[in-house]
Amino acid sequence: MWQTIGQTKIIEMLKRALVQGSLSHAYLLVGPQHSGKMTLALDLATALNCQSENSTRPCGECATCLKIAAGKHADVQVVSLNQNTDEEVKEHKEIGIDQIKDMLRSASLPPFEGKYRVYIIDEAGQLSMEAANRLLKTLEEPTGKVVFILLTANIRLIPATVISRCQRLNLARLKTEEIESILVNKWSLEAEKARLLSRLCHGCPGWAIEALKNTNLIQERQEKFEKMRTVVKSDYSTRLGVASQLALQFGKKRETVYEVLDSWAGWWRDILLAKTGCRGDIISIDCLSGLDEMAGTYSLAQIKQSIECILEAGEQLKLNANSRLVAEALMLNLPRPAPVS
Ligand SMILES: [Zn+2]
Repeated sequence: MWQTIGQTKIIEMLKRALVQGSLSHAYLLVGPQHSGKMTLALDLATALNCQSENSTRPCGECATCLKIAAGKHADVQVVSLNQNTDEEVKEHKEIGIDQIKDMLRSASLPPFEGKYRVYIIDEAGQLSMEAANRLLKTLEEPTGKVVFILLTANIRLIPATVISRCQRLNLARLKTEEIESILVNKWSLEAEKARLLSRLCHGCPGWAIEALKNTNLIQERQEKFEKMRTVVKSDYSTRLGVASQLALQFGKKRETVYEVLDSWAGWWRDILLAKTGCRGDIISIDCLSGLDEMAGTYSLAQIKQSIECILEAGEQLKLNANSRLVAEALMLNLPRPAPVS
């Protein structure tokens, strides 16, 4: 049983390659966070090593399948940022050359207990240049029973030379209805919660599953929404303080700022939908009263202006504009609420 939710075309293609023995020695899985890249990589690793005699591999029941699911199979290894013990490298948020050298040393040996050695490199965009170049040498001269699976949410962070040596698989976002039905039928979730989570996860089922396990996620999201409402009501000096926090955050971990901007743009989109009477398309159905209140406080033009300046800020940051200037411009351009008729 493949555990990956959706992605049926990719799974069918991999199943065919498994049967025909035509698998690539390296895959690059590209897809947004929580789209199922790690689950798919582990599915493939399990299918490659499953001991079942029949054709429906992975069986999910043999000793190998169970070991891989428990993260205890010697031939299936995940290389990620978290394992880095070197403080300096950790600071730079890189997968360093030593990690890759260790991985390649073990990759040069025959499988220890399974049929294939499988190395999954999570957040492969964080490979240091030196580490990527070392990996490239191996990808150029593939050896026997080894498969490398690189995962990334951002293809632009992967060197073109590495991309060219891998078979690229793009994980698509799933439809809201598809995720809603899976949450009800497979995860036995009550209809109302399934409706909320399937909307909030933006086509990435992993987020919904995580929200099932970690109930704080929804609450934290609602708190962030309230924080945004406070920020847009505040005076300019408070807003500039928020701008300075955002710029600081961007210097430390830019992804968190992109997440803030995405959430804000999403809420303003919902406010627009509330304003224009398209309530059925609203995503944050857990924040309806706040959305309605804002829809009543802002004019249509102001709501559009908010969406535009948030998207513009995201674009400028991606173009490496000065983060403090971008954040300040955003905070000054977000319209202040005024009574509207
Ligand atoms: Zn099995």
